[in-house]
Amino acid sequence: MSLTVKAYAKLNLMLDILSTLPNGYHDLFMVMQSVSLHDLVTLKQNAFGDIAVTCSDSAIPQGEGNLAHKAAQVFFDGTGLSCPGLSIHIEKHIPHAAGLAGGSADAAAVLVGLNRLFDAGLSDRDLVRLGAAIGSDVPFCALGGLMLAQYTGTVLSYLPPLPFGKIVVVKPDCAVSTGEAYRAFDTAERIRHFDRAGMLAGIMQGDMDGVCRRIDNVFEQFIDVPERVVIKGVMRRHFAQSACMSGSGPSVFGIFENEADAEEAARELRRSFKNVFLCDCVDKGCEIV
Ligand code: ATP
Repeated sequence: MSLTVKAYAKLNLMLDILSTLPNGYHDLFMVMQSVSLHDLVTLKQNAFGDIAVTCSDSAIPQGEGNLAHKAAQVFFDGTGLSCPGLSIHIEKHIPHAAGLAGGSADAAAVLVGLNRLFDAGLSDRDLVRLGAAIGSDVPFCALGGLMLAQYTGTVLSYLPPLPFGKIVVVKPDCAVSTGEAYRAFDTAERIRHFDRAGMLAGIMQGDMDGVCRRIDNVFEQFIDVPERVVIKGVMRRHFAQSACMSGSGPSVFGIFENEADAEEAARELRRSFKNVFLCDCVDKGCEIV
């Protein structure tokens, strides 16, 4: 038995950090959106008794170091089902260490795929609980669409979808460690927080201008991505409604009302950057194909 799951990347339309919790984690306020850029995660049941993970990108850990492996273990531990043997192959398209939650998306796809493959009957709530044991973006990636994620990313609320046009995502040629980004927050002297209530009101009212005006990411205040200004400049010149960094970076996305403007921006950005993606919003985090 085998199946393949699309694991969609996420963007942060708003990422604010409210405080550092006593356990060192952070109290977050994140408005997150799944987009059509995706990895393909194939799960195959076998009779060898163990979990094997391979990935098309040799820079990503294979085997136990891969978040997909951890997800399979969490699934079997959490459901009490015994593992007959499982091979997982990831066809990687989401750049890693990019602020796009590629690893979390793969882990979520394993949970969602195994739930189907083994007919385990896990509810969304169960997937969120198991996902939280893997990583803070995994619960969102298991459900996806447009959501508010609070606390450590594990308290999720559904939000109504918004009529976004096209989205251009650029991953500059540098990597940002999420751990270092949070350490930078912990030592930052002054933080400017965002109009969180206004963002939620804008979303609930379907006010695209209000939403686009409020898109922001606290990490932009203390994570240096030298290419960010150039990328945003190109996007704005092609009439992006908004342009912002995602997660702890370095990826930058632009939202375009008009498809032709997005294509023009992507064309210009491809002259300088090799990872440029033209995306749509999607209403789920994972999709069995
Ligand atoms: P986030 O937005 O959640 O911070 P990210 O996009 O910054 O995530 P990932 O793509 O999830 O970062 O990768 C972070 C690190 O996790 C990688 O450098 C890699 O070593 C490790 N990793 C483990 N499993 C995977 C996987 N399946 N895909 C990508 N990276 C993985």
